[in-house]
Amino acid sequence: MHIFRDLKSGGDSGYPGHGEPRFHAYTERQFDQIPHLERLSAEQRFAMHVVARVLPFRVNDYVLEHLIDWDNVPDDPMFQLVFPQPGMIAPAHYDRVAGMVNSGADKRTLKAAVHAIHLELNPHPAEQRTLNVPYFGDHSLEGAQHKYRETLLFFPGAGQTCHAYCSFCFRWAQFVQDKELRISSREASQLQTYLKAHRHVTDLLITGGDPMVMKTHHLVENIEPLLQPEFDHVQTIRIGTKALSYWPYRFTTDADADDLLRLFERVVKAGKHLAFMAHYNHWRELEPAPAREAIRRVQDTGAVIRMQGPLLAHINDDPAVWGRMWREQVKLGIVPYYMFVERDTGARRYFEVPLVRAWEIYRDAMQQVSGLGRTARGPSMSAGPGKVEVQGVTEIQGEKVFVLRFIQGRDPDWVERPFFAKFDPAATWLDELQPAFGESHFFFEREYEGMRGGTVNTLVE
Ligand SMILES: *Cc1c(COP(=O)(O)O)cnc(C)c1O
Ligand code: SF4
Repeated sequence: MHIFRDLKSGGDSGYPGHGEPRFHAYTERQFDQIPHLERLSAEQRFAMHVVARVLPFRVNDYVLEHLIDWDNVPDDPMFQLVFPQPGMIAPAHYDRVAGMVNSGADKRTLKAAVHAIHLELNPHPAEQRTLNVPYFGDHSLEGAQHKYRETLLFFPGAGQTCHAYCSFCFRWAQFVQDKELRISSREASQLQTYLKAHRHVTDLLITGGDPMVMKTHHLVENIEPLLQPEFDHVQTIRIGTKALSYWPYRFTTDADADDLLRLFERVVKAGKHLAFMAHYNHWRELEPAPAREAIRRVQDTGAVIRMQGPLLAHINDDPAVWGRMWREQVKLGIVPYYMFVERDTGARRYFEVPLVRAWEIYRDAMQQVSGLGRTARGPSMSAGPGKVEVQGVTEIQGEKVFVLRFIQGRDPDWVERPFFAKFDPAATWLDELQPAFGESHFFFEREYEGMRGGTVNTLVE
């Protein structure tokens, strides 16, 4: 709860109402204060309540007022994006929690049951807690992941929440109350020490949660020191964010919005590329006037906005949605970057799309955009060995296969080598695929097994 207070900013009038919009978040405990939900049945509200005990829920007035089409709930994609739905947890888990809520189980019993469920949901997919931890000397760099040689992921301690939560979030484990499941850092100076010692790191990707929930002065503490000449090897500072969709006022009317834009300008002036890795799921997020204003203001600082987001059943598993989103983005000067496959964690069963369908949607959407929209790569799985793209389905010597390639690899040598898996119409993730042509393993598997045998990230010298 303390974080909410920290987030409040803007004018001193309430919202909606007069003056500047002021951030106010609703969590599962404040369902009853969301007037829009009154149009749902008591059963629907109860189901959302149960699911929100297990998966994180958070929404704010901007999302309620500007994104969700309340005449179209529960099917509205923006509603599905943030509001928990009964199908998002397994029926057995649902029944267990619903039973406890109905029988008035005490807090501790409920908490223990929910914790047990969390552990069954693969809270840290793709070996995030073991293989990706960066070391220098005997120390691990807290709140960071270093998986690909060029790019260091940094999770600033004050940025481990978001202006609203996506119901499918693969980082959900960071938002639920279990402290031990979180990854975060409070140490800007440790980050600097690490970067000084690792001169092959060209990209720093600041992520969360959403680092844009941080006050500008916190961001200045983390970013400004990196503008010194000793960090010249860090050419690009990327910021992973959904604030352009969930709280565009962060860049317009929030009290420290202008200071934030000045920081961006200083980064650009110092000769670095400032890249916004903006998370988008639907063209609807680009429509509201405040969102447009925020995009323009960020771009005016010299920063480039790139788009990335997962392909999700119930939200955007439709080529027309992606085609329109990419066309709108190109018009707004946003660069389409990645279409992700929903990760193997949390509510994945509700959102997953078979790989073959993901590829069809990607292909169909690509055909609807000009070359400037075809910069989006995918569908891509962020798996343990790397980012693996489904390039297509074809037949080679009578065998139907998936053609795959690494966009990123734990070993850079794996990148851009095509490889083949047996076609499987139901497969939704890399670990469900078998090598094609009767081979016993994929070309990278032995080396990857070797990496898993060690405790340190082999990419960090
Ligand atoms: C995607 C990703 C990156 C960035 O990869 P790019 O292909 O350079 O965008 C870095 N680290 C991790 C762990 C990632 O998943
Ligand atoms: S904005 Fe990103 S980190 Fe935040 S809830 Fe959505 S997917 Fe998760």
